[in-house]
Amino acid sequence: MSRRQVDVPALVEAARAGAPRAVARLISLVEDAHPALREVMTALAPHTGHAHIIGLTGSPGVGKSTMTNALVTAFRKQGKRVAVLAVDPSSPFSGGALLGDRVRMQDHALDPEVYIRSLASRGHLGGLSSATPQALRVLDAAGCDVVLVETVGVGQSEVEVVGMADTTLVLLAPGMGDGIQAAKAGILEIGDIFVVNKADRDGADATVRDIRHMISLGDRAQPGLWRPPVLKTKADRMEGIEEVLEGIEKHIAWTSENGELKRRRKARAADEIEAIVLSELRSRIGDLRGRHSIDELAEQVALGQSDPYRASDSILADLV
Ligand code: GDP
Repeated sequence: MSRRQVDVPALVEAARAGAPRAVARLISLVEDAHPALREVMTALAPHTGHAHIIGLTGSPGVGKSTMTNALVTAFRKQGKRVAVLAVDPSSPFSGGALLGDRVRMQDHALDPEVYIRSLASRGHLGGLSSATPQALRVLDAAGCDVVLVETVGVGQSEVEVVGMADTTLVLLAPGMGDGIQAAKAGILEIGDIFVVNKADRDGADATVRDIRHMISLGDRAQPGLWRPPVLKTKADRMEGIEEVLEGIEKHIAWTSENGELKRRRKARAADEIEAIVLSELRSRIGDLRGRHSIDELAEQVALGQSDPYRASDSILADLV
């Protein structure tokens, strides 16, 4: 089948039946910002809203992959269908490399109820922050109960990506992620659950205290708000994973009861709409630039015959 021709109904049906190849193909369409996406999203929409999206972030080396693996094992024990979506906002063109050769995920490589994928954003103007929600939609409609979104690093774009989750886990390790560092990276605000991994190492209790202290100083200490638990794990030995699962369940219950889950999902949808509108506008402006007007207007502005506001008004009038 050529790149342009996609049998959307068949693909969506196969993905909904859980066929990994169909899911993979749909996510590739997302990465490419393929024209068929419009039809894909229309077909998927009625089947979304079931999956619980769990974001996982933390500095390289804290144990995110090990934790992801441990959580997949734990969710599988509960009979849940799980997807792992690995995103690396700092290198948008490295799709595939992130997870492909990682031995640890081979624990689940043969399990048809576990879908593992890394995400690139080859054609997306908005990058991974706009491709991620669409990929999540695909996994959700494909019948996953849980989607773990793992990001590399703790920069602004990571915060944006995991900020889309229903529940966000922030991983730290003793000595690496003290409270001050966490505050600087902006992760104190986004973490719903903090996990101090590598608890077998010295300083784990001090890091736990540090994070608890920082949380107690912030806005989140107000009554009525979710008070993020700070847990300790040894992910490589599967220790403390039950407590993490319990924390996730409590957070799901809390956000479902008080409307926070709905609010988050609405905010995520708003971001998604905005990203599509912006990329549509950008591409239309690109078309305009190709055709005529910007050059002419720019010349007038440069010569003082017009001003930039008046010039942009005439472009905007052309866009709508
Ligand atoms: P990531 O870069 O955040 O994904 O970290 P990884 O999951 O790749 O883990 C980095 C290293 O830490 C690996 O060698 C893991 O085996 C190790 N590791 C993971 N969890 C623990 C733990 O609880 N204790 C110790 N000592 N090492 C761990």
